[in-house]
Amino acid sequence: MLNLALFGPPGAGKGTQSKLLAEKFNLTYISTGDILRKEMGEKSPLGLQAKSIIEKGGLVSDDIMVQIIERTIGKALNSNGILFDGFPRTVVQANILEELLNKMSNPLTCMLSLEVPREELMHRMLERAKIEGRSDDTPEAIKFRLIEYENKTTPVASFYQEIGKYFPVNGVGTVAEVFERLTNAVEHANRFEP
Ligand code: ADP
Repeated sequence: MLNLALFGPPGAGKGTQSKLLAEKFNLTYISTGDILRKEMGEKSPLGLQAKSIIEKGGLVSDDIMVQIIERTIGKALNSNGILFDGFPRTVVQANILEELLNKMSNPLTCMLSLEVPREELMHRMLERAKIEGRSDDTPEAIKFRLIEYENKTTPVASFYQEIGKYFPVNGVGTVAEVFERLTNAVEHANRFEP
């Protein structure tokens, strides 16, 4: 299996690029943000629990996220590979994901990190807010999402760096340019997989 995780701050373009990557490499797409929004829309117990945290721009508890990921990985095991968008977002989640995938003898191939400067992120998210109307795209929630990212998510990069699976990619440019950089990184990572 080719198992990829797309990493980067909110607004980096993970959603756009992961859809393209999933199509090109024929991967099962797992977006924890989409799953949570669906649960919220259905007003499921899990969705109701997550709603207020998400709307503030905070991170949902690792406990809830692990339940979601275990359930979805199980269903994706017979595919060509999995593309994780928005997961893992904490070091706890990263440890659990490594363990789960290794136990299934289908380790994560690489973690692709989209690098975009902060001013550009703010600008992109405020533009997106006008189009999509997501309830967590208010200026306050965006600011808090960036703070949560700095505090809880950036350490995930070091986690993957230490195990040699971290591939940074410049996220500034056209969608096609960034996509080409990502596919090059995937091919590179795949060649060196043990
Ligand atoms: P973004 O566009 O900000 O990267 P996502 O659509 O991936 O956002 O996720 C939206 C929100 O869902 C996050 O701000 C967070 O509250 C919650 N969320 C998504 N994935 C995770 C995760 N792995 N751990 C904790 N919370 C998550």
